[in-house]
Amino acid sequence: MDTEEEITPQELKSGLKKIRLRRWFLWILIIAYLPMMMMAMQTQQAGQTVITAFIIWVLLLIVAVALMALVRCPQCGNCFHMNGFLFRPVRKCFSCKLPLNADKKKT
Ligand SMILES: [Zn+2]
Repeated sequence: MDTEEEITPQELKSGLKKIRLRRWFLWILIIAYLPMMMMAMQTQQAGQTVITAFIIWVLLLIVAVALMALVRCPQCGNCFHMNGFLFRPVRKCFSCKLPLNADKKKT
């Protein structure tokens, strides 16, 4: 009966914080790719290290995307970045259009 129940600002804040954290994890991972490869190429067995580093990076990327895809909107309970089977990391909820920085705006 209470599916449309109002959520508290605290719930909204912690929910959005979680989404932002997971987004950061993905961006940091993408940014870290280049310096990581540069470091791998400096090592003695560069070829092997580069491959190992790349495999680890891809696995982490899959985890990061999965975490992001599964994170739920604190307002409507649907997946924040998913529109059906489409994964789109935009700054707004697909179902209820809740902006990612909704808790930072003063009402
Ligand atoms: Zn939503």
